[in-house]
Amino acid sequence: MKILEGREKQIYRHGEDSYDISCEKQSLAGSVSQRACVFCGSRVVLYPIADAVHLVHGPIGCAAYTWDIRGALSSGPELHRLSFSTDLRETDVIYGGEKKLYNSLIELIEKYEPKAAFVYSTCIIGVIGDDVTSVCKKVTKETGVEVIPVHSEGFKGTKKDGYTAACNAMFRLMGTGDTSKISDYSINILGDFNIAGETWIIKDYYKRMGIEVVSCVTGDGRIDEIRRAHGAKLNVVQCSGSVTKLAQMMEEKWGIPYIRVSYFGIEDMSEALYDVARHFENEEILNKTKELVSSEIQSIYPQLMEMKEDLQGKKAAIYTGGAFKAFSLIKALKHIGMKTVMAGSQTGNKEDYKLLKEVCDEGTIIVDDSNPIELASFMIEKDIDLFIGGVKERPIAFKLGVGFCDHNHERKIALAGFIGMLNFAKEVYTSVMSPVWNFVPRREKQLRESEGL
Ligand code: SF4
Repeated sequence: MKILEGREKQIYRHGEDSYDISCEKQSLAGSVSQRACVFCGSRVVLYPIADAVHLVHGPIGCAAYTWDIRGALSSGPELHRLSFSTDLRETDVIYGGEKKLYNSLIELIEKYEPKAAFVYSTCIIGVIGDDVTSVCKKVTKETGVEVIPVHSEGFKGTKKDGYTAACNAMFRLMGTGDTSKISDYSINILGDFNIAGETWIIKDYYKRMGIEVVSCVTGDGRIDEIRRAHGAKLNVVQCSGSVTKLAQMMEEKWGIPYIRVSYFGIEDMSEALYDVARHFENEEILNKTKELVSSEIQSIYPQLMEMKEDLQGKKAAIYTGGAFKAFSLIKALKHIGMKTVMAGSQTGNKEDYKLLKEVCDEGTIIVDDSNPIELASFMIEKDIDLFIGGVKERPIAFKLGVGFCDHNHERKIALAGFIGMLNFAKEVYTSVMSPVWNFVPRREKQLRESEGL
């Protein structure tokens, strides 16, 4: 395949080139990146906070594009699942949208009595210059409900800048709640979004270890919990790309240390729990953790090994938002006998790609900020059996007649935790082993060629 001029340094073939992958840069014009905009970045992070109003200040398309964007579940209120927009029209763009924003906030706060409200600035707000901060301040003063501006104009950077805007918004809430009864063995779960109930699985593990979870940022999130998050003794960061910035700000202001973990796959899930247990240097917690890990692994291992027999040697490609998740997926696939032949991410940094290279085999293609044409050509070249990605990668896989596993926002089955590993293996097994792939054009052609037809 001919690589677009200017993209060459963001693609690396393990073992063939000297490794100096270029990343953390603006997408190349014309390359149709898989990345989303700044606003989308902040929306996906804040979205699971279930007792807040989320108001998108801009034209209706921005709100529609991100409506119910994650399958983030709530154990209580479900305000987050309602899509509110100021629905700016031509006259608002000409005369300004501040009045409409003010009226919308007053109406929403009266009707839903939220714990707080987030106001997302979209591209057009950056163009017309509405003073969103002043409107938010005014409404906060009049209603007593904290209204927080999220400065996420879509054009002003990458999805990563949206993550920063979301972190800044949450940071404003922290330090305002009562922390007096928080245990010495307490954590905040950062960067898990309760997709298909995953936060509940992880929370249950910590509870069994004797650890208090003060707040979840943001899976099944609550405003009052975030307000007291600064009372936790440790921040445990999963989706590092989106919330490491928040952990760093909390460390700087309140001295709370943070560790990076992953809850995907047997190895990383176990290591996450052990890392937390070791941090507290408490014998009882460590013993409980050992018991938990051992019983959970025993309960799933025989089934994994059964599936491994059939999956041995099958090939997978992975394309994720942040690169950290890709490490866990590569290890999880190895556990069930599969080989990763392509791995990439939208927003990985130098350190991520260095680590990715270490866990990949020779010949693996490593790619930063890829696009549909490249991804399709790598999939054909490597003749993969499974593609793991998100909603934007799914059509690429299906058009090529390749099995697909959604490991992103839209998954409906929990893939985190030990039980998640079993669910993942079952999903991979069902997709890869389906007889349907023998009848797609790609395989039929291979079959005809092998039979000399
Ligand atoms: S914020 Fe801008 S780039 Fe993002 S969806 Fe809205 S118009 Fe599109």
